[in-house]
Amino acid sequence: MGKRTDYIDWDEYFMGVAILSAKRSKDPGTQVGACIVTPDKRIVGVGYNGFPMGCSDEDFPWDREGDFLDTKYPFVCHAEVNAILNSTKNLKGCTLYVDLFPCHECAKSIIQSGIVEIVYLSDKYDGTDSDIASKRMLSSAKVQLRKLEPKFDEIVLNFKS
Ligand SMILES: [Zn+2]
Repeated sequence: MGKRTDYIDWDEYFMGVAILSAKRSKDPGTQVGACIVTPDKRIVGVGYNGFPMGCSDEDFPWDREGDFLDTKYPFVCHAEVNAILNSTKNLKGCTLYVDLFPCHECAKSIIQSGIVEIVYLSDKYDGTDSDIASKRMLSSAKVQLRKLEPKFDEIVLNFKS
């Protein structure tokens, strides 16, 4: 018997971990996950968007519109930053997998952490001011950008088999 041929490759595996991490987010509008991987394919950090530790989801707003202090924007920690802060090692040379292209704030942390490659799925904010600033910094810092084109539309996790 030959080996299985429908196994997932490394890119799909690590992006899958990022998407699974996003399932932890309490944000009703946007769920983003991130996974940081060393050059020898070890996962060293995962994260998703959420409020900082001690800032309860019951007490802080998830709204997208209204007065600044009544929205989530001043309070939420993005998946990429959480993955960097949760990581277990120096991230020099690492790759970041994230399902949504990083904003300009995350781009700064990604660059400063030593991450050298970003693999992403969606670039839905392409052309916005935040996106232009993000790509300008990532380009200057020579961070490689790669849009993942997965072989599958979905991977099903079955807890009953
Ligand atoms: Zn961000």
